[in-house]
Amino acid sequence: MYLHEFQAKGLLRQYGVPVPDGGVASVASDALRVAKELKGDAWVLKVQVHAGGRGKAGGVKVVNAFSEVYDEATRMIGMKIVTKQTGPEGKIARRILVEKATDIQKEIYLSFLVDRDSEQCMIIASAEGGVEIEEVAKENPAAVVKENINPVTGMGLFLGRKIAKRIGLDSSLLNKFAEVANKLYQCFVDHDGMMLEINPLVVTGDGEILCLDAKMTVDENALYRHPKIAEMKDYGELEPQEVRASIFDLSYVSMEGNIGCMVNGAGLAMATMDIIKSFGGEPANFLDVGGGADVNKVREAFKIILTDPKVKVIFVNIFGGIVRCDLIAQGVLTASEEVPSDRHIVVRLDGTNVEEGRRILEEGAAKSGLNIVTGETMADAAKKAVQLAAGNIEQKEEKPSTKAADKGGAK
Ligand code: ADP
Ligand code: MG
Repeated sequence: MYLHEFQAKGLLRQYGVPVPDGGVASVASDALRVAKELKGDAWVLKVQVHAGGRGKAGGVKVVNAFSEVYDEATRMIGMKIVTKQTGPEGKIARRILVEKATDIQKEIYLSFLVDRDSEQCMIIASAEGGVEIEEVAKENPAAVVKENINPVTGMGLFLGRKIAKRIGLDSSLLNKFAEVANKLYQCFVDHDGMMLEINPLVVTGDGEILCLDAKMTVDENALYRHPKIAEMKDYGELEPQEVRASIFDLSYVSMEGNIGCMVNGAGLAMATMDIIKSFGGEPANFLDVGGGADVNKVREAFKIILTDPKVKVIFVNIFGGIVRCDLIAQGVLTASEEVPSDRHIVVRLDGTNVEEGRRILEEGAAKSGLNIVTGETMADAAKKAVQLAAGNIEQKEEKPSTKAADKGGAK
């Protein structure tokens, strides 16, 4: 789960990490009030969206007068911002963060992440802060310093000083940097962080260290341990389908293709996307309804997939291990009634009570004339889904039993 900059900075402040004073506003008059409370003569306004790269896209502005605070806040609140990280569709900025402007002497890059290879957390730092670290890593890999952090002993001031030295910080700053890095690490670990990126961490004109930006993601699966963090979830930043999925406990990720996938189990969901691609199709989403999928979840999953206008075919690929195929078949039939006739449904069922499940599907589809095609195997079903999505086969040829329904004039 992604935290907004102001939320991450709120957590960092609790750990004694130096961050600029500031406040959030969702209307321009509030932005002005925050600036007046902060006093001073220069402020920074920053759009709060789940994406970096705002500076280059007009989402970070330094202003020097109250009237400018008001004008810029009016412009920024509600603006659509398009950065490298938002994708071409951009994001709407519903809030801005108003902070005291900082006298920057040097910008440093510092981040923490979970390194799967070493199965430890990793600290990454570079003297070339303020720019994208991917660029630095490509152009000048020697400027990026990485160290693993032993989970038992933790970070310690020694490692902090070592990193500071390696990125060429002045010796007067080694201890300060090490202290800040340790507090950041503690905050990261305590909240089950996946990534905490401070870019830039700056040395100010008067030789202090300050975290000017904070991008933090935490492990969604650990949210039960952090109810306060869970409350920070900003549904306004999610796709409508993702909001629905999170309410019904489904894992959903939207993609570019036209074959909607409804699968139980993350591994099978990945394999389903692979097999669609191997037959030349493109999945429209990843969707895992979970091991214990019931009729309700199947119905919700259909609704979520159908809100995506790109979807031409819904590929249901369920392995009945915990869940019985006959129940799933019933759920698919019920949910299919709401599927518009120009979309096709391809179902592959296997596992417990599979014969009964297939019988229910075939009889139900024949009776109601629903656009349901079944596949004997995963490959067979995937092939059919790809062909239907490409408009290469007529459904009737695939499934003679629907003819009876055509005659009956059912929907
Ligand atoms: P993003 O990473 O989304 O572009 P940042 O918070 O890193 O946003 O801001 C971009 C740049 O704006 C920073 O590299 C820094 O130069 C400048 N900046 C950000 N906050 C402040 C501040 N409080 N005072 C002065 N300059 C700032
Ligand atoms: Mg930044």
